[in-house]
Amino acid sequence: MNRIVRLFLQVLSVGSLAGCMPSPMQSTVGSVPAIQSPAPQPAFRPAPPVVVQNPWKPDAVARKWRHIVLHHTASSAGSVESVHEAHIGRGWDGIGYHFLIGNGKGMGDGEIQPTFRWREQIHGAHAKSPNNEYNEYGIGICLVGNFEEADPSDAQLASVKRLVSVLKHEYQLTDSQVIGHREVKATACPGKNFPIGEISRSSVFPVLAGQFGTYVTEQPSAFQVVKVERSNLR
Ligand SMILES: [Zn+2]
Repeated sequence: MNRIVRLFLQVLSVGSLAGCMPSPMQSTVGSVPAIQSPAPQPAFRPAPPVVVQNPWKPDAVARKWRHIVLHHTASSAGSVESVHEAHIGRGWDGIGYHFLIGNGKGMGDGEIQPTFRWREQIHGAHAKSPNNEYNEYGIGICLVGNFEEADPSDAQLASVKRLVSVLKHEYQLTDSQVIGHREVKATACPGKNFPIGEISRSSVFPVLAGQFGTYVTEQPSAFQVVKVERSNLR
């Protein structure tokens, strides 16, 4: 991966040099006054294309997503496996969320795991409402933790901001289409310590995207490679 980051940095430096060379000096001949020519115009340089890397692009045809609904597990620990089991126990066809983000107890701190619902682009089971709008067209993202009692970890916040930013861009969703579960029904979820506004407004993107779920992100001091194992639960 170091090689990929180096290559990326080389591309960056070449790009930043383009157009920065000094222009050749104008020469004058003897005492003949130089004919005033119009000031040279800077060459037209199109803005670099904005390429948003999406490490979570599923193979399946995209569903017509209209919302992102954020949740907490209301438990101190958890993993895709444990939530999957709990939701099967409720009679559902597996974990109800599209993504789970760990807190270091049960899965990695800030680790993002897409579930079968995301890979297969099928409806969620996480935000029941009278017309089922939010289960049908809402991407369910759940962070492990109880944010009525504790705060999300820094790693969880960094991860959910990246995930929400990419999904907003990919499905052309506005900040107001990113909501907490409690906006759909009477529940405390995702907890009073969950910074819903900060997350719905976020706009931070992975530097590079690799295979499904793997991406490179820029930290204050270094590039960090985030690798996510696919959950094969179904
Ligand atoms: Zn919830």
